[in-house]
Amino acid sequence: MTQRETEQQLEQLGAFEISDEMLTLARHNAKSNVFLNAGRGNPNWINKQARLAFNRLVEFGISESNRTINDGNLGGYTIKDGIYDHLISFLQPTNNATDAFISQALQYTNTHLKLNLDDVVHELTDGVLGNNYPVPSRVLYNTERIISSYLTKTLFHGVDLSTPTQIFPTEGGTAAIVYLFNSLRENHLLEPGDKIAINTPIFTPYLQIPTLNDYELQEIDLRSTEENNWEIKVSEIEKLKDKTIKALFLVNPSNPGAMAFDHAALVAIQKMVTANPNLIIITDDVYGTFVDDFQSVYAIAPHNTLLVYSYSKLFGATGWRLGLIAAHRDNVFDRLIQQLPSKTQALLNHRYAINVVNPSQMPFIERLVADSRSVGLYHTAGLSTPQQIMEVLFSLTYLIHDGQTDPYIETAKQIVHRRYHLLYQNLGLPENISRQNSKYYALIDIYQLAELRYDAAFRDYLAENFEQVDFLYNLSQKNGVVLMDGVGFGAEAGILRISQANLPDEDYGLIAQQILELLAEYHTHFKCR
Ligand SMILES: *Cc1c(COP(=O)(O)O)cnc(C)c1O
Repeated sequence: MTQRETEQQLEQLGAFEISDEMLTLARHNAKSNVFLNAGRGNPNWINKQARLAFNRLVEFGISESNRTINDGNLGGYTIKDGIYDHLISFLQPTNNATDAFISQALQYTNTHLKLNLDDVVHELTDGVLGNNYPVPSRVLYNTERIISSYLTKTLFHGVDLSTPTQIFPTEGGTAAIVYLFNSLRENHLLEPGDKIAINTPIFTPYLQIPTLNDYELQEIDLRSTEENNWEIKVSEIEKLKDKTIKALFLVNPSNPGAMAFDHAALVAIQKMVTANPNLIIITDDVYGTFVDDFQSVYAIAPHNTLLVYSYSKLFGATGWRLGLIAAHRDNVFDRLIQQLPSKTQALLNHRYAINVVNPSQMPFIERLVADSRSVGLYHTAGLSTPQQIMEVLFSLTYLIHDGQTDPYIETAKQIVHRRYHLLYQNLGLPENISRQNSKYYALIDIYQLAELRYDAAFRDYLAENFEQVDFLYNLSQKNGVVLMDGVGFGAEAGILRISQANLPDEDYGLIAQQILELLAEYHTHFKCR
């Protein structure tokens, strides 16, 4: 097979799958360069504090279990009565920073969230030990209160929705997305042939899932473009004036564009919801904490919006699989289910009759939980309790700062900012210093770079003579650098995504050098043709 044929085959694959192919090439690159993978969004940092606290709570849990049975390696169950006092005597906050964090976090749950300390400590302790099924299935009681406070403080920008917001913790944002598509379909809120709007370019699954024959949804693109620095224009949002559009799916701040919706965009969405109160919105805010003063679409349209969040990126926790779906107690999904044709409602009542006494009143968020385990296993559904408690502990590392700057979040932001700066400086490209720019990813337009460093004739030569993945392919195979193809995300040909998350700072200068070096080689060919 010629390189061109290989490239044409590659272009059929999804962006993440192309990237996997490139990794193999890059590991054995022709120049024997160090192999640099800036394709994936997996961070190369971790939050230590919450992990140490988890560990400490396991130790405490074992000491508690010994109170009821202590027979070799076999311990007993924990007892709630007095458990907070036991933990206080166990902790040594004056000479152990982790213990100090745990006591501070507990005080916060009591003074700010008005939670009962024995209840919280018992939930944390049993949770980390994992000795009970998740009960209630959807989410543990105090866990929901703590997570919804975290979401309110980090993503809603002053709009307090902590009380009416319900949470369903999931196996990462990944499971949240799968469960949402599935339950919207099962409950006839989205039917084959329905129109859904998507802000593009977007995280590839949002483009791939709707076209699967299980769904057959029609996509309407709300495009953000390079000319507009990947920000979405109000005129694109106004496409939602078409009332036949049932749902809006968005990633905010965007992946791969990295930009958050600005105030004008949020106001425009609010107007669209007022005009079409049945609009279903799904917002994926996994990068929200990387933008100062970020505000989620959930905060401005809470009754219409399902929020997807993940702890993966900020806390460096992709292996833990920690995500969630959040929804307002009073929401359009429950209302739309009540308005379905009576035949459809009867079928749904039959579907969920094994789960609840009054299935017609079963809220959409509970249907998500039931559907996630094929309805029949509703009673053993729910995220594992250790995972739920890990979400709680990550949330508390932020909450204890009580509105003051959280040094951890600042450090994480500084890391991606530094890498972004090094990349752009070395490429000789102007940085986008907009407040909305999370800088978690950068989109580089190879054709634009060719024109900027050389001329328009060279740009045209590249565009006309090579497969769209040719540059990406050669960058891996020759130079050992793996980036991601923007086309898979719905961007134009020649746009490459670089992740600022997963390589040491100094590598971003090297990546820029390799890009320029390869571009210079293409230019030599162009001149000698
Ligand atoms: C990384 C990412 C996810 C997946 O999150 P996990 O919790 O790791 O499954 C979801 N949405 C977007 C936009 C992402 O970039």
